[in-house]
Amino acid sequence: MTDTPSSESASPEILPPPGAEKIRCDACPVLCYIADGRTGACDRYANRHGELVRLDPLTIIKAGTDKLVPFLPEGAGGPDDWDGDVLGNGRTFVTAIGAGTTYPDYKPAPFIISQPLGGVDMVTVVTEGIFSYCGAKVKIDTDRHIGPERAFVRVAGEPIGHVTTGEYGSKMLSLGGVEHLTGGTKKEGRVTCEALLSLCNREPVEMSVDDGAELVITAGQAPIVNGVTEARMRVGCGSATIGMFAMQWHGLVDEVVVVDDHITGVLSEHQSGRLLGMEPSGIRIKGRRSTPGRYFQVADPGTDWGGTNVTDPLSILGPFDPRRARPGMTLLMVSTTGEQWAYFVLDEGLVPQPAPLPGPLHAVVERIAENCEPAVASVLFMGGAGGSLRAGVTQNPIALTRSVRDALTRVTCGGAPAYLWPGGGITFMVDVMDMPTNAFGSVPTPALVAPIEFTMSAADYAALGGHVDEVRDMADVIREAEAKGLRTVPNGTSRSASKRGKAA
Ligand code: SF4
Repeated sequence: MTDTPSSESASPEILPPPGAEKIRCDACPVLCYIADGRTGACDRYANRHGELVRLDPLTIIKAGTDKLVPFLPEGAGGPDDWDGDVLGNGRTFVTAIGAGTTYPDYKPAPFIISQPLGGVDMVTVVTEGIFSYCGAKVKIDTDRHIGPERAFVRVAGEPIGHVTTGEYGSKMLSLGGVEHLTGGTKKEGRVTCEALLSLCNREPVEMSVDDGAELVITAGQAPIVNGVTEARMRVGCGSATIGMFAMQWHGLVDEVVVVDDHITGVLSEHQSGRLLGMEPSGIRIKGRRSTPGRYFQVADPGTDWGGTNVTDPLSILGPFDPRRARPGMTLLMVSTTGEQWAYFVLDEGLVPQPAPLPGPLHAVVERIAENCEPAVASVLFMGGAGGSLRAGVTQNPIALTRSVRDALTRVTCGGAPAYLWPGGGITFMVDVMDMPTNAFGSVPTPALVAPIEFTMSAADYAALGGHVDEVRDMADVIREAEAKGLRTVPNGTSRSASKRGKAA
């Protein structure tokens, strides 16, 4: 939320030495005094010959080009029907990156821009929000155990968040938020802010989980767990894997066990094996049987087979039932990524003996691997347009909330579409990979600075009590920005697609 931080968490005012010619930056509560030629505490603002300037270039988005764009795209204001795409096809979109802030928003947002779109006059309110309560949700594609749920995640020894749920082959972290940014010690707040800033700007962050793993997380790249770069996201749980490949195993092997920390699957007992007419193999699995062919808790969580601590797959098997098993019976054991596999033939005593994996079965194991997606760490920035930020948009802040709720106003972050949470307020999440690089900054209060744009029709903007006297033409804004430096980036889709890797 863009709210005033507590006085305890804010850095003291940075005061000028007596007699110095300095100007005061009012873009955040730190209120730095900045000497000519110097920058403020956050390195975002500087004093250039007595003028307060925002140092990062204003960033605009244009589909399919990385060149400077014309002031107005061809056909702007033409008959193209608007399909609901805020950016528009090939349309120039001014993001809030480099726009500056007016925190607290006692005055209108830095840029309130008009632009025709599909014959409709649109307004985009552009501002860099200061987010004292923000956080990041991190999804780590790995089977490996990274630590118990609720364990602290630390950077430089400071708690910056915690492990939450494991879901669908990924581990989830909840980082930042008000408790760590403003609710702990000064150092905790500073370290949390720095970690969030790096994560959101796609830089690597080393973190450790209490009683868990050492992690290196970079948005859009493979996670590193205990020094090992993760390659594959598992194809599914053990039961799902059985279902996916049952027909391909059928006739090649008498039994398949897919070892998995969550649900270990057994082909002959599984519904898919039964539908294929498979006979019970007499196998016995150590673990809690859920439904036929699906076992929970076959081992403890770990970093080996299927996210368990199993290094010898036979350790999860009990003795075969002699009423059903027979010498010569074949058994494939495999993990959910296909990274680990072993093949056995039962001897006269019904004890599995290792044997070379036949070629056709090897092909199916390789198909598991082929079906794994690349393991990626995903970072979603989570913020809220609460507090005074809305006052930079309208004199009646609740009207903006209602307009967003009524889908009359679209919220974007650096041009990337934001997911809005249901319920009160304007609480949103955005994939940092959909945003231009280096979209985030920070101030020492501590808080993250993130771009946020509100786009709506001019009529709706007037209706919600917007600062209509501050609306400026797109061409004017870009012309002015060009003189100070302008960055053009391609449309968001290509940005995120280009960062996704391939499973090894
Ligand atoms: S920390 Fe940055 S934004 Fe805040 S007052 Fe200082 S220069 Fe301005």
